[in-house]
Amino acid sequence: MNRPLEAHDRDAPIFAPDAFRLRDAQVELIDRARRFGRRVLAPRAEKHDREASFPIENFRDMHPEGLLAICIPKQEGGLGADFQTYCLAAAELGRYCGATALSWNMHVCSTLWSGALADDLPMSPAERAGHNERRRMHYRRILERGAIYAQPFSEGGAAAAGVVAFGTEARPVDGGFVVNGKKIFASLSGAADYYGVLCTERAEGEAASRRNTLYLAVPADAAGVSLAGDWDPLGMRATVSRTLLLKDVFVPEQEMLMPHGVYFQAATRWPHMFLTLSPTYMGLAQAAYDFAVAYLRGEMPGTPPVKRRMYPTKQIAIAEMHIQLEQTKALWFQAISEARPDPSKEQVLRAYAAQHTVMENANAIAAKALRTCGGQAMFKNLSLERIYRDSRCGSLMLPWTAEICVDRIGREALYQPGEKDD
Ligand SMILES: Cc1cc2nc3c(=O)[nH]c(=O)nc-3n(C[C@H](O)[C@H](O)[C@H](O)COP(=O)(O)OP(=O)(O)OC[C@H]3O[C@@H](n4cnc5c(N)ncnc54)[C@H](O)[C@@H]3O)c2cc1C
Repeated sequence: MNRPLEAHDRDAPIFAPDAFRLRDAQVELIDRARRFGRRVLAPRAEKHDREASFPIENFRDMHPEGLLAICIPKQEGGLGADFQTYCLAAAELGRYCGATALSWNMHVCSTLWSGALADDLPMSPAERAGHNERRRMHYRRILERGAIYAQPFSEGGAAAAGVVAFGTEARPVDGGFVVNGKKIFASLSGAADYYGVLCTERAEGEAASRRNTLYLAVPADAAGVSLAGDWDPLGMRATVSRTLLLKDVFVPEQEMLMPHGVYFQAATRWPHMFLTLSPTYMGLAQAAYDFAVAYLRGEMPGTPPVKRRMYPTKQIAIAEMHIQLEQTKALWFQAISEARPDPSKEQVLRAYAAQHTVMENANAIAAKALRTCGGQAMFKNLSLERIYRDSRCGSLMLPWTAEICVDRIGREALYQPGEKDD
């Protein structure tokens, strides 16, 4: 007897609310993202992938849903999602369009880092008051106008890995800063209203220091802002991550997304902030698995209703994918639940392990799904081919590439901070 999977089974939440003990308010938000992903993102994903064009209409549609404001604190008019809730919602979007979820992450981080994360870090009362006033202005732009923020920090050198100070520099001048530099892989390039640029604040004659990292919202239409280069990559094509050039750009002081010195504190004391690229790939891992199940059952829309599930080799492959997916979910859920200021060494190592696992397993599951489903599953009118290419990008993303995670786990597991060999 044949009993087709109902749509609600195929698209069931990645993390079942009861099993993972989610709160009602979380469930509502995550569900909102899941329904939005299925209804709005999925039908548009193929076109933007083929064209390597930015899905601006997805972001316009996110505005009335409140999704652009998911991490804006409630008292400021946003949905007030905490770190874990955001990650779970982002994973649901990643299932339906990896590139949109990844670009959305760049936008959301501008509100999460200036919001809940900054609230966890010490500031003097005057600094706090100034910060709250400035961030309110950023939040109003998002809430009232649907403004979109990008987050370019990569420069092609050692800065994005956190090793040296950013080469993009902000020179303090009357009323603000003059910014000069270059950012590679600026997702949302040409679509964002503001670029949340990480740069080094450096007065005349001062040495560059990571401690002086500044997080500035550079208006896309400011004089001296331009884009360069083509964008024709393997995967995540709809992120349109071109090169951003900043030449003598005057940025008013009010555009600071964090007060002086607070980004450095965040990067050292709130390391889970760098785990925010992983939800997209958690969603892609689930999507690859879901595709394989539907395809082998002969229920993939757009393909003939041919069943392939009766072959033992297919069943073994699905079992292996299932095990890998459950391992990934369990570790990742634990890691996103531990985000906090000053986590323990064990929690930090687990965050690296979770990032590595999600990024590597998303692509491994997608590759196995292709191998198992077979040749007819690789056509571009089906989503698996795109999921396979998109999932390949995760382990390349700084600051926590798969290699860097391995590097840090090995070193930090064997050495205490400051410890050296004689
Ligand atoms: C689809 C996509 C979208 C992106 N969007 C953004 C964005 O919006 N904003 C943004 O800032 N960046 C973005 N990036 C950039 C990304 O985060 C990386 O900066 C980029 O992929 C690095 O490429 P690279 O060749 O310059 O790496 P390199 O710096 O040349 O490094 C190559 C590899 O060497 C290893 N490595 C580098 N430094 C170290 C180290 N110190 N220790 C040990 N190993 C190291 C890493 O494993 C790395 O993968 C995006 C990337 C992709 C693929």
